[in-house]
Amino acid sequence: MNTDSSFLIVGKGLAGSVLAQKLYFDYGIRNMTIVDNQQYQASLLSSGIMNPVTGRRIVKTWQCDTLFPEAENFYKEAGKTFETKFIEQKQIIRFFESIKEYNDFTIKTGEKAYQQYISEEKQPIEANLINNDFGAGNIKGAFLVNVKAFLDASNTFFRNEGILINEELRLNNLQFEIDKVIWQNKFYDHLIFCEGYHALENPFVNKLPFRPAKGEVYIANIPDLPQERLIKKGIFFLPLGDHLFWVGSTYINNDLSPEPSEKGIQILNEKVKKAIGNLSFTIERTETAIRPATKDRRPFVGAIDHPYKVYIFNGFGTKGVSLSPWCATQLCEHIFNDQPIPAEIDVNRFL
Ligand SMILES: Cc1cc2nc3c(=O)[nH]c(=O)nc-3n(C[C@H](O)[C@H](O)[C@H](O)COP(=O)(O)OP(=O)(O)OC[C@H]3O[C@@H](n4cnc5c(N)ncnc54)[C@H](O)[C@@H]3O)c2cc1C
Repeated sequence: MNTDSSFLIVGKGLAGSVLAQKLYFDYGIRNMTIVDNQQYQASLLSSGIMNPVTGRRIVKTWQCDTLFPEAENFYKEAGKTFETKFIEQKQIIRFFESIKEYNDFTIKTGEKAYQQYISEEKQPIEANLINNDFGAGNIKGAFLVNVKAFLDASNTFFRNEGILINEELRLNNLQFEIDKVIWQNKFYDHLIFCEGYHALENPFVNKLPFRPAKGEVYIANIPDLPQERLIKKGIFFLPLGDHLFWVGSTYINNDLSPEPSEKGIQILNEKVKKAIGNLSFTIERTETAIRPATKDRRPFVGAIDHPYKVYIFNGFGTKGVSLSPWCATQLCEHIFNDQPIPAEIDVNRFL
């Protein structure tokens, strides 16, 4: 492992931050520059949920037995480093949308592979407040990560180390010379793009099949809703304290504008009404961001087709919180120890 290698990282949302954390603390890299202009970051709107069992068919999320322990360990270690708690185990009470969901969930509670993640919930305290036609189940193996707190602590650290520069990196200011990338008169061995959906403007990588998806979220005051656990009824109600809830989100393709869309607002309104139609609530504000999702819903990790050492670490879609620590390890192991990138996340599948 060559800890003298130098790195230029473009973009410091959650992806760039997790990767920088690994490079610095686990691989001893000190010669690193991270350039970020905090432009419309998806990470700042993330609810930070790691949900092991999702979807109408009630299935375990991809690789969760591997991803969750690694992510839990990563955010705990980062918490020790920055003396802040970033991750906690949190229950999700999931109210079902159909009798089929209820039946599928109940069957899965008896399966060994699911027992650490879900359990039956006969009489949830939220039941008389939420539209509850088909019962509820308890997702006990979920985690909540305070993404904003992690990003704030990481930004402060790397800025103080002289590693983080707050500006836009313009690609035409990059030069390439035998085995080196040059930016602002400094030479780097490796260039890694972590630009979120802004990658669509980057000709090095924008031919990859990104499928960016806008998410709209309400920040709402719901005085009567219990604040102990996350509630899922079509959409998530995530307690923020003081009766405020993160309520969302939508998943809208082909709309990259920063404003909330009419369609998105309509969807949110319908779902909120369906879930808590009998409760009084006030919408404090609406927020939007674009997820860097991909055609096959797997990240893009690894070297892109380029004569120099240029990599991508992107495409984390709806699951950046749980995916990025494990994927960062795969990229680092590839760079330092020549390990192959697992095929499902290897960007090579589209090159
Ligand atoms: C509403 C919503 C809810 C979500 N909830 C969850 C959740 O509960 N759990 C979960 O796991 N995931 C969730 N996600 C997904 C998660 O937020 C993303 O997977 C993750 O944030 C992607 O991080 P990123 O670093 O790739 O992109 P971003 O956060 O968008 O960061 C990209 C960064 O790169 C910078 N940049 C780009 N180009 C340049 C350049 N040329 N020069 C300088 N800087 C540049 C940008 O300014 C930005 O800061 C959610 C997303 C949304 C929108």
